[in-house]
Amino acid sequence: MATKSLGHVVDDYRARHGRFKDIAVEKDDMISELIEQLEKSRLECRQKALDLESERAERRRHQGRVEELETLTRSQNGRAFVLVLIDADADDYIFHEKFLSKNEGGGKHAADELHARTKDYLRLLNVDATNTEVIVKAYADFKGLQTACLKNGKMKNGASLSLFAHGFNQRQGLFDFVDIGAGKEGVDNKVRECLSFFVGNWQCKHIVLGACHDSGYASFLGKFAADVSTRDRITLLYNNAIHPRIAALGFQKTVRLDTVFAPRLLVELPASATVFSGNGYTNPFTLSERLGPVLRDTEGKRIDKKLKVDARTSYLNVLRGSKLCYYYYLRGRCQGCDMNHTPPPFKAREFDCLWYVAREGMCRKIEKGEDCDDPKCFYRHEIGCQKGSGTV
Ligand SMILES: [Zn+2]
Ligand SMILES: [Zn+2]
Repeated sequence: MATKSLGHVVDDYRARHGRFKDIAVEKDDMISELIEQLEKSRLECRQKALDLESERAERRRHQGRVEELETLTRSQNGRAFVLVLIDADADDYIFHEKFLSKNEGGGKHAADELHARTKDYLRLLNVDATNTEVIVKAYADFKGLQTACLKNGKMKNGASLSLFAHGFNQRQGLFDFVDIGAGKEGVDNKVRECLSFFVGNWQCKHIVLGACHDSGYASFLGKFAADVSTRDRITLLYNNAIHPRIAALGFQKTVRLDTVFAPRLLVELPASATVFSGNGYTNPFTLSERLGPVLRDTEGKRIDKKLKVDARTSYLNVLRGSKLCYYYYLRGRCQGCDMNHTPPPFKAREFDCLWYVAREGMCRKIEKGEDCDDPKCFYRHEIGCQKGSGTV
């Protein structure tokens, strides 16, 4: 075998050297890549450490906030309250005459009654009545209100609304019946501001709002009705009816406090409609001709005229509570009695409603087995129902 020529040997070395050079380049590349990777990992690691530290700080902050809120919740639940907010200038929220006419004593009784009935209502709402305070804020123009109450018989002559308020405010530490003075906007503004403030206070578990008689509150109340969580924390306190514009807003809860506020009649006429002479009261506006004539069945037994009165209408309860003298309102004449003779006479519908209520009593003559031939006798003459039609 011939020895390799020197030329071949050199080529061989060159080739081998070339391969070694390639490997060295590849090695350098790999080391650079490794360093690069390491640097990237180091940076990532540093970033993670920073993130972790910031998470820790955030968690500590949240922890602190949770503790703060827990303390706040505990303190709030400890002083939970319900607010009864009343536009007391309105006819719908005038205290019963039996309270208003008795100055301080009447004020105290009214406060007790309002407190008790509000607690009853809280139980109905499943609110913890025992641990919930009742705050009452009622606003009125005392001078104007007193004049009106004296004029329409809702308060006895000589009684004072200020003295009533003294009793009311003194009886319960959180009850305020406040004189705002004259001016249409005064009471409205107080009611609006109070509602806006308390509705955002979560210590305030519920609001009973006595301001649903007047369409003037409708647009203001609209924004509370729109938010369900707010809407469900408000109950509309009403008397005879909720104003249709407010009723349309969609509030779900309503309540009447019949034993606190005097029922309101559908019609209001000047007190001059009452004529009192030495021997009784005369009502020149009575529709007493509606009472007659006497009706009899085929056997000659007296029967009662059917009235267009819906037995379910809440107005009947208003009438039952208003102690109107049947003789005065229905027959037009009363010899003098303790019943109410001051409010105005009725239109046909109210007249029939009162007649219907009067028929809850049986005619004495029929009770005694005698016949009654008085065309103006408004009592019941038939055993059984009061003969309302069920429709109006
Ligand atoms: Zn009478
Ligand atoms: Zn009779």
